[in-house]
Amino acid sequence: MKELTLSDFTAAAAKIKPETRAFIDGEFVPARSGKTFATINPATGKELAQVAECDADDVDVAVCAARRAFESGVWSAMPPKARKKILLRFADLMERDSEELALLEVLDNGKPISDARSVDVPDSIETLRWHAEAIDKIYDQISPTSADVVSMIVREPIGVVGAVLPWNFPIFVAMWKFAPALAGGNSIVIKPAEQTSLTAIKLAALAAEAGVPNGVFNVVTGFGETAGQAIGRHMDVDCVSFTGSGEVGRYFLRYAAESNIKRVVLELGGKSPAIVLDDVSDLQAVANQIATGILFCQGENCSAGSRLIVQSGIKDRLLDTLAKTFKTWTVGNPLEPTTRVGAMIEEAHMNRVLSYIDAGREGGARILVGGRRTLTDTGGFFVEPTIFDGVRNDMRIAREEIFGPVLSVIEVADADEAVRVANDTNYGLASSLYTDNLHLAHKVARAIKAGTVSVNCFSEGDMGVPFGGYKQSGFGGRDKGIAAHDQYLQTKAIWMQLR
Ligand code: NAD
Repeated sequence: MKELTLSDFTAAAAKIKPETRAFIDGEFVPARSGKTFATINPATGKELAQVAECDADDVDVAVCAARRAFESGVWSAMPPKARKKILLRFADLMERDSEELALLEVLDNGKPISDARSVDVPDSIETLRWHAEAIDKIYDQISPTSADVVSMIVREPIGVVGAVLPWNFPIFVAMWKFAPALAGGNSIVIKPAEQTSLTAIKLAALAAEAGVPNGVFNVVTGFGETAGQAIGRHMDVDCVSFTGSGEVGRYFLRYAAESNIKRVVLELGGKSPAIVLDDVSDLQAVANQIATGILFCQGENCSAGSRLIVQSGIKDRLLDTLAKTFKTWTVGNPLEPTTRVGAMIEEAHMNRVLSYIDAGREGGARILVGGRRTLTDTGGFFVEPTIFDGVRNDMRIAREEIFGPVLSVIEVADADEAVRVANDTNYGLASSLYTDNLHLAHKVARAIKAGTVSVNCFSEGDMGVPFGGYKQSGFGGRDKGIAAHDQYLQTKAIWMQLR
């Protein structure tokens, strides 16, 4: 098969005319106010499209439609096999349109086309299939009782689920929410991040084409303070699943407390450690994983391995290899297939990342690689992959989530100190450990306080394992795996006295 080039992708991108309206009760609709807002291509700084600016009124219409659909049983009471068939068709349609989905994601988010085609889109399709396949394989329970009682423990969909999403993995995080929610029989109202609405809208079209009934899958586009808050405070939303910053996560807890005490699931930020112990033998393999950990998705990754905690004996050699490895992560036009680091999502965010780089310098850390804005003449928002050496764990760049391609290197004497430093953070989403010592691998993996520990790789595991945070990285559930279904189900006890 012919390898696609920059000009192929540029030509294909120019042909895309994205749908920009909200999707409510089976129809594309403008915002009731008639307002729209611009979505920007982060690689050029230019406007891509005007998107419907929904607010509380639109959210209310969407939630009412979702409730009507839920109570009608058209989806919630559909036989599991039939629901599964529709979701598998949905996945097939995503596969059919995967090139368009990947391009839309790149144009709206600024991530490299090679990532969108090899990770975001195929992994999202796999996620949908995984949850669809689970539908008719999950059993309820009967608890042990005396013979004159039948005690059933049954699981039921929670009802109307609101999903408020971040911009870094627009399709993927949407899928992590709606695939298990729909699998369980719920209706959903999705609010994508305002920076990246286009793929969620496209998914709505595919859901409808696959046969997901009207009102079950809704997308309201708009801003957080208006549309997002309206979902959080709506009296008829049963659960909000939120992925984003800790600051906004706290708002959702408040919205729930001040409205209907809806269930709140929070997947928040991270400051994940990558521990490297002296005994590792394959330095290049370790360097490749560490670079992926911080540079994949431009570092705009909640589980980015942003703190390299390295034992003294191997530090210099590792940094040498790592500096060379960083140079192979080409920053460039996201539509160029060889680009590995795309654009930051927006100008304000790029400036935030650059201000952290300034803070690192001012705090006394030393730049080993990178440290500047780049490709300015494109109009896009690009930052060089950056390594800070000489970081102490109490510096701002080691404590706060930068959400960019910036690695902080912290030197430690031994494995015990590495664990202490790794755990000395408000976060606990992910972590990686590199060692050839199997005994230490087991002990350190148990000692790290994080939802994911990957050993000798940077990974969140596959679809079958739960993903979520300890401490201020999360609350209320886990995305991925069967645990993801629990977030959107109620447990009911039915106790029957027999005569
Ligand atoms: P953000 O919190 O600014 O925005 C996330 C969503 O919340 C957006 O849809 C936004 O419109 C909405 N929002 C903003 N203000 C709101 C308000 N007042 N009320 C209701 N909704 C509001 O986060 P972001 O900048 O889009 O994403 C970056 C953050 O997300 C990082 O902290 C990152 O770590 C986190 N994240 C976590 C995971 C995870 O799985 N744990 C995955 C991806 C991103």
